[in-house]
Amino acid sequence: MPDGPHESPFGEPLLSPPSRWGEVHKLTPILFCLGTISVLYVIYVVGHCMPLMESPDEDVRIRGFVECLGFHIITFMLLLCYAMCTLVHPGEVPQEWVYHPNMEPAIELPIKEVKKKGGVPRHCKKCGKYKPDRCHHCRVCGMCILKMDHHCPWINNCVGHHNYKYFLLLLFYTMLATHLIFWTSSESMMVVLEKDAPFLTMFAVLFGLSISFFLAFLVTPFLGLHIWLVSQGLSTIEFCEQVLPQGGASCWCCIETNSMWNLGIFRNFQSVLGDNPLFWLMPFSTPKGTGLAYDANPKYYAAAGGLGRDLEASRGSHKQGSSRKLLAVPTKGYGALPSDGLNDGLNALQHHYQRQPYCVPEPFAAKDMI
Ligand SMILES: [Zn+2]
Ligand SMILES: [Zn+2]
Repeated sequence: MPDGPHESPFGEPLLSPPSRWGEVHKLTPILFCLGTISVLYVIYVVGHCMPLMESPDEDVRIRGFVECLGFHIITFMLLLCYAMCTLVHPGEVPQEWVYHPNMEPAIELPIKEVKKKGGVPRHCKKCGKYKPDRCHHCRVCGMCILKMDHHCPWINNCVGHHNYKYFLLLLFYTMLATHLIFWTSSESMMVVLEKDAPFLTMFAVLFGLSISFFLAFLVTPFLGLHIWLVSQGLSTIEFCEQVLPQGGASCWCCIETNSMWNLGIFRNFQSVLGDNPLFWLMPFSTPKGTGLAYDANPKYYAAAGGLGRDLEASRGSHKQGSSRKLLAVPTKGYGALPSDGLNDGLNALQHHYQRQPYCVPEPFAAKDMI
């Protein structure tokens, strides 16, 4: 067995994931986001809240105080979710899931999804590990990510099992903040125009208004899409692989997703936001589980006779008009090579050796190559 997370069973180094913080260009989007938040904060507080709170009219002063307080609460939550989203690792595959092409894994793997060809469990050639259900390899992060949703350059991180809730909340509080700025500072814009304020003040208020409108315009439908994905028990990758290729639906409510992971709307939200609905909007009370296994909907799972589907292998199959195929999950022999003969075994070994020189299957390397 390997001695460490980056060492093969034969003592050779696995390909190390690239450093997240070592490249300046990867930090640029984060600095851009923080800069935008800072500019909007200053413009809204100085250009909108303070003039209201200094008004001689008591009602206006109270309204200014309430808007300022609400804005600070929302901004604090937004920054907290942004930090969690960026710093919390989405989840990677444990070292015990190391893949040997002709050996069974050391532990029993709770895998439902299998590869179409041969019905064997999915595995990653780059990481040399089995892939848990809903796991995908991220080329940017250089590793397999548990329940990978997508890689987000704005947080320089993948969005996956452990940080998807923070990502959703980040979108939610960004949506709240931008709508609050846009709808309330419109009033300040009118006041500034009427009073013929200095150019810099006018420019700042108009700039804040434009940026908030633009961000609200982008984030609101994006959040709506993710809420719909959660309600259907889908990740973005699963949506792109299962639902988009079907096409044909005239509206969102007519799309039939048939996700194997769709447990009903309430449980779908629980699986992402946590069990207690009172804490769904709080950046804690994350969902239970390690991200290595997920409950499957009995309706779809039993209909297939306890079968899984390979999302990756079905990529493109819909375009060719073929039906979605469900394949049996082997309960044993996960790592077994095809037993069609020596040639098949050698071909598989050759293919494996070309792709994974760091992980030569031991029995073949020891005797069968001679
Ligand atoms: Zn991988
Ligand atoms: Zn990634």
